[in-house]
Amino acid sequence: MSIIPSAVFQVDLAAVEFNYRHAHTIAGKATEIAAVVKSDAYGLGLTSVAKALSHAGCNLFFVANLDEALSLRSAGLNARIVVFSGDVVKSRDVYREANLVAVVNSREDLVGIADATAPAPYFLNVETGFSRFGLNIDGLQDLKASGVFQNNPPSCIFSHLACSDNAHDLTNKQQRDRFIAAAKMFPEASRSLSASAGLWLGRAYHFDIARIGSALYGLNNARIYPNPLRSVARLRAPLVDIRNVPHRQAVGYGATFRTRRDTCLGIVGIGYKHGLPWACANKLNVKIGQYIAPVVGRISMEYTTVDLTDVPEFARERGGAVDFLYDDFGIDELAAAAGVNSQEVAIRLGASCPRDYPERAIEWGAVASMVGRRGSDTGSVIEKVA
Ligand SMILES: *Cc1c(COP(=O)(O)O)cnc(C)c1O
Repeated sequence: MSIIPSAVFQVDLAAVEFNYRHAHTIAGKATEIAAVVKSDAYGLGLTSVAKALSHAGCNLFFVANLDEALSLRSAGLNARIVVFSGDVVKSRDVYREANLVAVVNSREDLVGIADATAPAPYFLNVETGFSRFGLNIDGLQDLKASGVFQNNPPSCIFSHLACSDNAHDLTNKQQRDRFIAAAKMFPEASRSLSASAGLWLGRAYHFDIARIGSALYGLNNARIYPNPLRSVARLRAPLVDIRNVPHRQAVGYGATFRTRRDTCLGIVGIGYKHGLPWACANKLNVKIGQYIAPVVGRISMEYTTVDLTDVPEFARERGGAVDFLYDDFGIDELAAAAGVNSQEVAIRLGASCPRDYPERAIEWGAVASMVGRRGSDTGSVIEKVA
């Protein structure tokens, strides 16, 4: 049995690559799969994930802000990077020097960009029903007539679907119709509407670029069964103590669990400090080797208690590994058990536990595979770093 010193969040980069290729298969050749690696790649590690995806042939990345974009550049990523949000006017020089693509989210952004002496590429976000960022379609025609796009037209028009995880929701078609109307004003620009769940809405939703985050990380937002995505994360924690307690003994804060027999309890070194949702008290099964053990009582800050009574004695060992995420129980299942959102669970675990990338060492300078290549594009190239 392996001895592990602390809770660890393991990320399988080969599975991320697999999911990237799968997204390609679904979207088809006409659609470029862009990787959304914002928020530290949903907690999985910005540069490690981008490196793996670049290796798999991805040449277009979306990040949340300039900090993330610059991290990728200084790590040597040579692909196109689009920055979802930032002060595109004030930071104009930074965008240019690091060769970053801005997203224009507002009229102010647009006017600032149009004023620039040297035109720079940008993506234009149009609001079709999400009500977050983006220019309202109503004003677009007037803006166009004012000549603001003359010197510097957008290279891509994009919008974001609110309800794509439900294929039956009529909002999808409504947003798509508005999006197409807006994109018609810019026939030269490429078009992007869908995120992960949009992959399963059919070709009519794929357009030129699909912006894929969750699906790369194995999160099945659209609840497609059987799940075609590979689970990307494992969560292991050490069994730090074992104690035998009698029948009818209270366990943990609030005494939310009472033993129903003489019970062998295991104290595991993971709590909500490590990103394990407090809400999954009494609702999870963990694995010790091939044996199943239920979580009993509340999750505390540093520790979780499990019932080891049915685990054979030889498999209970202090320092041994307890698996909270395993083959048929991934982040989606953990999130569902806790009644919370999968992306939130991934981000919290990734931010709070030490991360590990087992069995995988992608060399910088690796040649990109042929997957996802379009036209004469040389694909993504990661420069060698010392
Ligand atoms: C986060 C985000 C995405 C990716 O969404 P997933 O559902 O995780 O694939 C795409 N587009 C925008 C604008 C986003 O904010």
